[in-house]
Amino acid sequence: MTIDARHPLPGTRPLVVGAARSGLAAAALLRRHGLAVRVCDARGATALPDAARRLTALGAEAMLGRDDAGLLEGRDFVVWSPGIPVKHPLAVAARANGIPLLSELEIGYLAAHAPLVCVTGTNGKSTTTHLTGALLSAAGREVEVCGNIGRAICEVAEQVSPRGLLVAEVSSFQLETVERLKPFVATWLNLTPDHLDRHDDLESYAALKQRLFVRQDGEDYSVWNADDPAVASRRTGAATPLAFSIAGPVDHGAFRARGQLALAWRGGTEPLLPVSELALRGAHNHANVCAALATVLPLEIAPDTLRAVLRAYRGLEHRLEPAGIVDGVEFVNDSKATNLDSLAVALESFEQPVVLIAGGRDKGQDFVAVREAARRKVRHAVLIGEGAAKIASAWRGLPMTAAATLSEAVRTAFEIARRPVEGGAPAARPVVLLSPGCASFDMFRDYEDRGRRFKDEVARLKLTEAAT
Ligand code: ADP
Repeated sequence: MTIDARHPLPGTRPLVVGAARSGLAAAALLRRHGLAVRVCDARGATALPDAARRLTALGAEAMLGRDDAGLLEGRDFVVWSPGIPVKHPLAVAARANGIPLLSELEIGYLAAHAPLVCVTGTNGKSTTTHLTGALLSAAGREVEVCGNIGRAICEVAEQVSPRGLLVAEVSSFQLETVERLKPFVATWLNLTPDHLDRHDDLESYAALKQRLFVRQDGEDYSVWNADDPAVASRRTGAATPLAFSIAGPVDHGAFRARGQLALAWRGGTEPLLPVSELALRGAHNHANVCAALATVLPLEIAPDTLRAVLRAYRGLEHRLEPAGIVDGVEFVNDSKATNLDSLAVALESFEQPVVLIAGGRDKGQDFVAVREAARRKVRHAVLIGEGAAKIASAWRGLPMTAAATLSEAVRTAFEIARRPVEGGAPAARPVVLLSPGCASFDMFRDYEDRGRRFKDEVARLKLTEAAT
């Protein structure tokens, strides 16, 4: 069976493991190509009623409620879900029997007509991938943003013509089972210890990221973070390298220097705009912007188009998202900040003081690690959720108030933010920032639920204020 003539699939009878979004998309694609698809999931049909219906409609063999090695019977390759560790006995059994494991990303790549642009890293993937898509689409390119963000690559792979581009957010989990992936542009944002519960150590985590680059050739491009030695020192592959930096000029790529963004391309430098004109805030986002600019560099987008997008691009929901202004107090929703690294970069993104709403389910973090940043930036912390007491003891000395609900936290933070500060200039009015540094599951369905409820509270406050 062939999807791409250069890369025939290893067989015609795949087992797709995992009946969630990416598994269903892979099953549908493989069925469209006439393969005899079997799909399994440890969850049963009662837990996955939509998946069960969908698989029947596709004509796939559904084995829901099973994840045992017997499922490999008569199968010649496996499509492995990035959500399941590859140490799972089913993956171990497949490998022991010489049955290859492929990721959904790889199936999508093999079926795609358009070249692939892949963005990976520990932090900033979604923002950079989304912005890359926005830059390309403003330039009139046919583009689909997919992968971890948006739709699964197998869902869109065949819809984009050879003249278009697929821009995929790629996690290290998807790279565990790629053998042939060869992106036209591959970008590595940063590397910090994360997910070490699934990867044995930093070296194996880094080696997975490198798999994105190893099959690239001289017609491809690779993009590296010049400011992150953990990334820059692992440069590999035969692609033309590009770099990005917020610490100063690079020879070939995109950079920030003296408060200005610029491109370095074909021996020349093209100044773009001062970072003060960006709609995105925070140095971490300047890095994401430079990464996206370097990623689209080989696609020759007119500088004026780049400028227009960067001035308007406000980022993704729940990531330093402007949530409204009430009586001169600005509210910012950073509900995606579920760990301390994110909380730290959020605090550094503000010139003015912050009234911080933090707390939630504690994931075993050491809040002392951000105490100095909190002391410098936070005028007052309003603490919610299970982690409140632990944060209060880690940040002792900082003005803090506990709140029982998010609604109470928003109202308390608002009152504190608009309280006049003795001798304080009006320009120094604090921002109210929801950047919890904790998971949300103690009080909310997920971080998106938490962020939306925060925005609802701000909208309610606005109405109450307007009525008084
Ligand atoms: P990902 O998809 O990798 O999780 P996002 O773009 O969704 O990345 O950003 C998630 C969080 O990571 C943000 O809220 C921010 O706190 C942090 N972050 C974003 N970009 C960077 C970066 N370049 N460096 C460090 N932290 C970042």
